[in-house]
Amino acid sequence: MKIGIYPGTFDPITLGHLDIIQRSLKLVDRLIIAVSSRTNKESTFSAAERADLIRKSLSDLNLDLEVDFFDSLLVDYARKKGAMVIFRGLRAVSDFEYEFQMALMNKKMAPDLEEVFLTPDQSYIYLSSSLVKEVASLGGNVSDFVTPSVEKVLHSRFAGKSASAPKH
Ligand code: ADP
Repeated sequence: MKIGIYPGTFDPITLGHLDIIQRSLKLVDRLIIAVSSRTNKESTFSAAERADLIRKSLSDLNLDLEVDFFDSLLVDYARKKGAMVIFRGLRAVSDFEYEFQMALMNKKMAPDLEEVFLTPDQSYIYLSSSLVKEVASLGGNVSDFVTPSVEKVLHSRFAGKSASAPKH
């Protein structure tokens, strides 16, 4: 059985992430969405909230997948889960250098683990969690970018805070 992992911060999950999830599903038998719970990155939602929004978004799309947390080295986590492939999304050029560096580092630590980069539908190429939060915090409509569950939570999180946009 081919097991794949799609790791990320998902702060919050967007339709771009969900596009990558649906593409990844065509390539493996089992996909684990792994939420980074490390606290060195300032996030708007807690790891538990981010996982909850992923579960709700998956169920909005009638998908039932495992959502898990990791706070160790990704390659160690992948080994523990018996995964043979890590999926990452590649958007515009800006993602490339960071992703490439990280993939090479992972390859050095775990030569038999494959990293697969998938590109979303072009309507999501410029979409990021930070942009969605920025728009929501300014009172804009984000329904083209996130599922109804995420939209609802973003609106209640940013209600009355339209003067100060989040940092990321
Ligand atoms: P991280 O902090 O690991 O980059 P993110 O949640 O921002 O976590 O992203 C997780 C993965 O999803 C990354 O590979 C990122 O490039 C990818 N990704 C994020 N947004 C999109 C999008 N709109 N389309 C395709 N891939 C995306």
